[in-house]
Amino acid sequence: MISKEFADRIAAAVDEQFERQLERTVELVALPSLRADEEPAQDLVEREMRELGLDIDRWTIDSPELRAHPGFGPSTVDYTKMTNVVGTYAPVKNVGKSLVLNGHIDVVPEGPHEQWSRSPWDAEIRDGWMYGRGAGDMKAGLIANLFAFDAVKRAGFELTGRVHLQSVVEEECTGNGSLAALLRGYTSDAVIISEPEEDALVRANVGVLWFTVRVTGRPTHPREMANGFNAIDAAYEVMRALRTLETEWNSRKSQHRYFEDLDHPINFNFGGIQGGDWPSSVPAWCELRVRVATYPGTTADEAWAEIVRCVEGAARSGSSPAFEAQLTPDGFYAEGYVLEPGSDAERLLEETHRAAFSSELTSFTTPGYLDGRVFVNYGNTPTLVYGPVSEAIHGFDERVSIESIRKCTKSMALFLASWCGVKDTRA
Ligand SMILES: [Zn+2]
Repeated sequence: MISKEFADRIAAAVDEQFERQLERTVELVALPSLRADEEPAQDLVEREMRELGLDIDRWTIDSPELRAHPGFGPSTVDYTKMTNVVGTYAPVKNVGKSLVLNGHIDVVPEGPHEQWSRSPWDAEIRDGWMYGRGAGDMKAGLIANLFAFDAVKRAGFELTGRVHLQSVVEEECTGNGSLAALLRGYTSDAVIISEPEEDALVRANVGVLWFTVRVTGRPTHPREMANGFNAIDAAYEVMRALRTLETEWNSRKSQHRYFEDLDHPINFNFGGIQGGDWPSSVPAWCELRVRVATYPGTTADEAWAEIVRCVEGAARSGSSPAFEAQLTPDGFYAEGYVLEPGSDAERLLEETHRAAFSSELTSFTTPGYLDGRVFVNYGNTPTLVYGPVSEAIHGFDERVSIESIRKCTKSMALFLASWCGVKDTRA
């Protein structure tokens, strides 16, 4: 049981540094850490971790072990210059439990700037919200991890368990950054990932696969269109078939615990389409970029086999003549996960959440990808994906609630102190 005095002392330390915490978050949002362009943002994180007195491990994520892992997502970018940063605290007397505080540094593309009310990289704070691409997803959480750690020390406590603060790449496209951190040997008794989760705990989430379908046509002049074969028309056949598969997968939701009450847990997204070379040539090619979701317990290989069958079926028997459709996985190849209820970590988070929010912790199922799958499925570690209230992540005018950041930081700092144990340096 956490005493009120203990909780208040830690909360006060968070409050004291909160302005500085917001400044760092603004600074980090201003660095557009799009995929394969994360290094300047990682420099800032490394600098902050050094100031906290942590031992720094910064490494390029590529390794044969990573590429051979069943949870590896095939990558289309060069990994030789992309780094993870981990800051480690090792107590003098190691008697407590260990913890990983994880966050991802990468952000998704900001889209057309004219749809934002101001620059996505100008993290304005207005009416209790911080705006900007990545403000919610998840730079507020990533900086909150660092300040939660700092607050424990500032409150006059010395942690007695090992802590790893992780800033990883590749969460928005493959999940290979967190996987690389796990494979590097960073294991722990529990993990917190401070993603924007509406002040709640993620109970379960979907797996995600990314792939490209390339449809091949036969180009001709439109005056003899009947002799050609239109790859763009054929891509519609593929899309229709995939929508049918999506409906079928959604109809299986009652077989999946934690998904039965969601309206539409499985979402297939056609995230990109490109094809043809000239308005007056029947297109010779069309490429579709697709994201699909799967239930936990379905391996990526099993899902992939169904997708291949579906697309090949459409190519053979659509309303058009048979055509060639080539499938290539090129991103997430990830199974979902369930956080089994009843862990010590979850029980403690219930307590620290109550202390910070004066309300009960709720849990929910999310139909989006989370790196939690790495630590649960391959590290067998209770993983708490828990973080602030946000709006419009991956959209325009993305924003995160300032008061929610404050309370989540208090809850996480109190968790850290209670989980790892502390020595009171003022006693
Ligand atoms: Zn995220």
